[in-house]
Amino acid sequence: GGRRRCRRLEGEAARAVLGAADTLLFDCDGVLWRGEAALGGAAAALGRLAAAGKRLCYVTNNSSRTRQAYGEKLRRLGFPPATPRHVFGSAYCAARFLRQALPPGAAAYVLGGPALAAELREAGVPHLEPGPAALPGPAPADWARAPLDPAVRAVLVGFDEHFSYAKLCQALRYLLRGPDCLLVATNRDHRLPLEGGAAIPGTGCLVKAVETAAEREAFIVGKPNRYMFDCVASEFDIDPARTIMVGDRLDTDILMGNTCGLTTLLTLTGVTTLEEAELRKVEPTDVRKRTRQFAACPLLDRLRLS
Ligand code: PLP
Ligand code: CA
Repeated sequence: GGRRRCRRLEGEAARAVLGAADTLLFDCDGVLWRGEAALGGAAAALGRLAAAGKRLCYVTNNSSRTRQAYGEKLRRLGFPPATPRHVFGSAYCAARFLRQALPPGAAAYVLGGPALAAELREAGVPHLEPGPAALPGPAPADWARAPLDPAVRAVLVGFDEHFSYAKLCQALRYLLRGPDCLLVATNRDHRLPLEGGAAIPGTGCLVKAVETAAEREAFIVGKPNRYMFDCVASEFDIDPARTIMVGDRLDTDILMGNTCGLTTLLTLTGVTTLEEAELRKVEPTDVRKRTRQFAACPLLDRLRLS
């Protein structure tokens, strides 16, 4: 078929596109909120969509909250009530992946925070509790003798405020056991943008450190990988042709939507600007090649119902 141009979504066209959908998947940061503040109009827009009978699901690469905690945040910020079942955070999806991928009784070594541990517990995946690695001596060379748990068959990397060289050592030692030890990461977002052009390093930086040490690539649970959409589709009756992915980034949200055959909406309220969308200037460069397909992205603009 012909390449469909990205277009601004307004008025009648917006009503037609939303009318044709029964499910909307929402990225969270940069679409619904920025940090702890809801974005203007977002809660009201979702309220109208819920009242119109749409199924609303939440798909976020942020591994630092549980499904339950996202449900509470949505309520606190005035969004329509969401049950934890409708929330697909990368912590939950990573736990689900390991539950399926690990042999019975196998455990995960986790670089991550309490939410990741809570989702693993909920999914019944044995894991070493996050915390400082136990060290047998003061020098890094001694750490190569730190005890290893024989049950560990996966290293899982998520957002870890307490990431350390000692943990990196332990992760490498587990991965050096061979391909039987999986390397799984929640997401590759390498920067978390803050107000006024400021930013802090994202989980992708930690993933790169472990990948570099282990000389292998991690399986990525989060967007743009389709695994997150597969989680949604396995828990709800989803017709991709009647599903819209709403996001603020071309290289994660929109790319996943394109890959999975969804209609895509870029909100222009977060990372990707209108100028970048038009020029399709997305980083990193290897994504630029894959995102040529955005020329065929059916919709690319701000979600505004009114
Ligand atoms: N990872 C972390 C640790 C974050 O704090 C955030 C945003 O706040 C993200 C990833 C990106 O989340 P989303 O996929 O909702 O934009
Ligand atoms: Ca986002």
